Amino acid sequence: MALIQLRGVRRTYSSPGRPDVEALRGIDLDIERGELVAIVGPSGGGKTTLMNILGLLDDATEGTYSLDGEETRARDGRRAAGVRARTIGFVFQAFHLLEARPAVDSVELNLLYRGVPRAERRERALRAIESVGLGGRAWQSTSTLSGGQRQRIAIARAIAAGAELILADEPTGNLDSISASRVLDELERLNRAGATVIVVTHSSEVAARAGRVIRIADGALVSDEREPDAVASPPLPNGERRPQNGRIRFVDMLRDGWASVLSRRYPSIGQGLAVAIAVALTITTLGLSSSARAQVSATFDAHLNREVSATWSTAVENSVAPDAVPERIEQLSGVDAAAIVVSLNVSTVSTFAEARQIRPHVAIGDIEGAARLSIDEAPWHHGRLRPGEAFIGDLLADDLQLSSLAGAPTVLIDGVTYVVAGIITESSRLPLLRGEVVVGPRDDLTSRGPVDVTLLAVTSSGAAQQVARQLPAALNPFEPEKITVVAPTDSAELRGQVEQGVQATLTAFTLLALIVAIAALMNATLLAVNARRGEIGMRKALGARDRQIGALITLESAYIGVVGGAVGLVLGMAAILAVTLTQRWAPVFDLILLPVAIAVGLLVGAGGGGLASIRAARLRPAENLRA
Ligand code: ADP
Ligand code: MG
Repeated sequence: MALIQLRGVRRTYSSPGRPDVEALRGIDLDIERGELVAIVGPSGGGKTTLMNILGLLDDATEGTYSLDGEETRARDGRRAAGVRARTIGFVFQAFHLLEARPAVDSVELNLLYRGVPRAERRERALRAIESVGLGGRAWQSTSTLSGGQRQRIAIARAIAAGAELILADEPTGNLDSISASRVLDELERLNRAGATVIVVTHSSEVAARAGRVIRIADGALVSDEREPDAVASPPLPNGERRPQNGRIRFVDMLRDGWASVLSRRYPSIGQGLAVAIAVALTITTLGLSSSARAQVSATFDAHLNREVSATWSTAVENSVAPDAVPERIEQLSGVDAAAIVVSLNVSTVSTFAEARQIRPHVAIGDIEGAARLSIDEAPWHHGRLRPGEAFIGDLLADDLQLSSLAGAPTVLIDGVTYVVAGIITESSRLPLLRGEVVVGPRDDLTSRGPVDVTLLAVTSSGAAQQVARQLPAALNPFEPEKITVVAPTDSAELRGQVEQGVQATLTAFTLLALIVAIAALMNATLLAVNARRGEIGMRKALGARDRQIGALITLESAYIGVVGGAVGLVLGMAAILAVTLTQRWAPVFDLILLPVAIAVGLLVGAGGGGLASIRAARLRPAENLRA
């Protein structure tokens, strides 16, 4: 039975908004095993359309195509892919090799999709390359081969695959006459070895060599001439056909994907950078938020979270005498400094030079520590204010023309003399103190009636709440409710709120970065797939299934994602280090960042590559091989 049998084959191209093109209008054709057939005819006559149908890259709109006695259709994707992989060798005008990869990779490709083990693949590929006279070029990059060499590599691919049917669509169209001649020699040799060879050509040389010449014009078979003495070569011995029906191996797919990424160096670097930037932003924000959180906590504990105060009136019975308060409170665990402050009535405060009307305060205990004062102390003074001593605010000191502490200056407050023991230059807790004066303990504090007492305490970090709870009972065991305590918001809660705010902002930035990166990568990958339409069509022609093509593109994106992720991790760490160093924070590097970086890289890679892999999987080989 004839190897190829076409009956009433029509192919009409319809595209919306344009008139239908009848590329083939009823072709009946039988081709026997071992024939060498030249198909000739004017451009646009339908030759490529016919070859696509013969190669199971396209389907007839009407009519039937039987290959080896079985009616076969390109529509049955997996089966057609299998038949192409096992039976058909393609040689295209545009070569369609794997660019920038060793020639042997292109020659192996068909066997790869048939699941032939690596060692056997290599061996068969090298032998085939040898047989077309390019033994020395097997490892040379295809991009550096001449046109004629490239076409012989394409023929080697068909030889390595042991294809029974070779479809060559204008194989010499891009070649000079010497190269063309060599290519024809190879095709002829293949035919003599038993393969059925169909060559579309404009060249009269090819037609002259062929045993049979079929002329197609305007979608119809015009003539079909057989050399009277043309004998079909004996068919390939069965052993050579090797109908391996395997499926591409996973490791082979991994290797092929990696080689593919490397072969397109600059696009891959560009895509990897998009991923790296996204990952770097993620790592930076995650890492900085850890560092910032630690910083926020430290800041809170260092200041606000340590200040507790209480107020009460000495009118309340049973309250502890003001003089005794600081000592008692300092004994509570967690208290670093304590002092009480009682404000006196407005008095005249004067030096020899000036006088002011202000309210002085009496302080008992460690006012310097409890009110967080910075004091320029007189050389003779240290420690707490004693009776008859005063700390004077720097602003008031200026007003009173008290410029130097040398010579133990004094101030008069309502006629009583106080030695100036220090000048208050900073007062974060009681800012007004810089314009006022504080004096040491006085015996007459409560002699003129009840006064309001304020206790200022500074606790050790994290102890504020506990101290606040103890204060009322310590200050008035019988009527603790008469004591008003002011403590900072629970530190954990407040810290949590601030951290959440920081976290939310950073998370928003990160998400934005990820979206931008995915969009950029999607765009880049789609462009890359577009540029690789010929290659994808070729892979499919050689037997790759749609899913395998999708997997290849996804795999390539995943590789780029992982590598980009690793680069992003390094960039992100550097950024964290730079920020924390300039801010004088302690950098926080979490080990979790490593898997996060890889995972984010993969996510961006897969997300960005997803659309492109779907598009690649759907590309129809017939249209994309025309390019
Ligand atoms: P040949 O290979 O003999 O030059 P083709 O088979 O490539 O001819 O084309 C036959 C006709 O079909 C031409 O008129 C061509 O423009 C048309 N054609 C080919 N492919 C398509 C397509 N995908 N959509 C519409 N028309 C097409
Ligand atoms: Mg053509």
